[in-house]
Amino acid sequence: MTRKLMIAALGGMAIVSLALTACDGGPSSGGQKFVTIGTGGVTGVYYPTGGAICRLVNKDRAKHGVRCTVESTGGSVYNINAIRSGELDMGIVQSDWQYHAYNGTSRFADGGAFKELRAVFSVHPEAFTVVARRDAKVTTFTDLKGKRVNVGDPGSGQRATMAELLKLMGWTTKDFSLASELKPAEQAQALCDNKVDAIVYVVGHPNGSIQEATTACDTVVVSVAGEAVDKLIKANPYYAKTTIPGGMYKGNPKDIDTFGVKATFVASTRTDANTIYEVVKAVFDNFKDFKALHPAFSHLSPKDLVRDGNSAPLHDGAARYFKEKGLM
Ligand code: GLU
Repeated sequence: MTRKLMIAALGGMAIVSLALTACDGGPSSGGQKFVTIGTGGVTGVYYPTGGAICRLVNKDRAKHGVRCTVESTGGSVYNINAIRSGELDMGIVQSDWQYHAYNGTSRFADGGAFKELRAVFSVHPEAFTVVARRDAKVTTFTDLKGKRVNVGDPGSGQRATMAELLKLMGWTTKDFSLASELKPAEQAQALCDNKVDAIVYVVGHPNGSIQEATTACDTVVVSVAGEAVDKLIKANPYYAKTTIPGGMYKGNPKDIDTFGVKATFVASTRTDANTIYEVVKAVFDNFKDFKALHPAFSHLSPKDLVRDGNSAPLHDGAARYFKEKGLM
């Protein structure tokens, strides 16, 4: 399994470099449209997901003129803000933050509702994932009280989702003795170097970061369940119970209960319908190839991607493709 995961992670990187090479053509030239997808940390699943989408788009760029690149970013919240400011054309974001951004709620209350936000399609499920050093003796989420926890990049989705959970528990990050802001690519090393007791990541499985955290030193994946989680799920349609499959990571033979969201692919009305149509077509016309590009996609079906996880209105370009194919 470990070797398979390693190959998968490496595969993800290869996709990204291919996507980037395909876009090395310099400045815009006649009739070309350049688009950038905001993703997440390089050891997560968003980055290879963006790479997979761009790879399929760029394969036919001579036909449609759309050239796609990916950017590694802080994650969901960063991506939404960058799409809003026009700095990014598209991005991958958690379904909970798609909802809050469109409706101007939770951490998007101050900036107001982002009514131009559009859903394109949803992608893989993501689990709220906690990994702790075995010597930290953390067996449930509440054991994190007083511990050193990597709450993550301020632009990340997990940081924001964690804040929602803590609120329901009556906690803040002050309940941790340390709340570090390390990026996903740094967190496994920090855990193994005993700089933190636990890391938190809302992410698809398998992924490079959790693989590293479970192979480089003695750690456990911690279940996240209980009253606060039940309340969170009951009050919000974008949260659901999920499990991290037993045997996926070294030293974790049993299924681990937690809750999760969907990763979703979004844009704004600023990106024209033809461009989004071509991007959606590239993924859905080549769905078998897309699924093969990352192991976190293994259970996906086109219908799930249209149906699940979206709360903002569908982008016109995506709606046109889905109607043509009878997917909606
Ligand atoms: N869910 C994380 C976030 O929104 C990113 C996960 C990933 O990169 O795969 O920040």
